[in-house]
Amino acid sequence: MLVWVCGHCKAEHVGMQLRGEYQIRSDTWAVFLECGACNAPSSAILRDERYVRGERPRNPSASDRDILADSWRIISIHPTPKYPDIPDHLPTEVRNYMQQAAGTHATGKAPDATIMLCRSALETALKVVEKEETDKPSSDSLPLAARIRRLTDKGLLAPALAEWADHVRGLGRDSAHGVGEGPFGARPEGQEIAEEAYEFTSLVLEYLFTMPERVRIARERAKNSGTGNSEE
Ligand SMILES: [Zn+2]
Repeated sequence: MLVWVCGHCKAEHVGMQLRGEYQIRSDTWAVFLECGACNAPSSAILRDERYVRGERPRNPSASDRDILADSWRIISIHPTPKYPDIPDHLPTEVRNYMQQAAGTHATGKAPDATIMLCRSALETALKVVEKEETDKPSSDSLPLAARIRRLTDKGLLAPALAEWADHVRGLGRDSAHGVGEGPFGARPEGQEIAEEAYEFTSLVLEYLFTMPERVRIARERAKNSGTGNSEE
């Protein structure tokens, strides 16, 4: 058995039964798995770490407990819950939040967590932008709405971006305060709102970090190869 996330039903920590296997190399096996929750099939390539330790590798079906708790490691598994893309060239602290948001969003189980993580990513991004421009740490206590307004007033955030940022802020606020129907204040359409929050946050981050960095890299490359357009 392999305990993992099912790429079909998204069940987490679900026991997947080995229904077939064959050896690819001395330490590497291909396995065919059945999800204990939805019975759908997955396939995986596994490696037995006993081999690198100089021990004799075993057939993965010989284990009657979670083979990951044994000495097996997953090299690849299909299907895998789809992780949304994270924009490139993000500052580390912003990327950290987006990675977590992508993780919770992929499971589809905690939309409110996704929304709050997107909001944190956005807030951190705006602090980074403000800090870069003013070259001094921006005050941490400023509410997100006021920060968006201030950045827009300073011309650091285009009006369209400010609108998107404010939209995410609104989603995050509702989520944090449990506005809505459903149990625990979660709205029935939670996953859709999480999708929207993730999409809008990604767009704002692409405008703020990904695109300027891409332009900078392209310019650098053009300059180095001597094909850049000179204005002189
Ligand atoms: Zn499943």
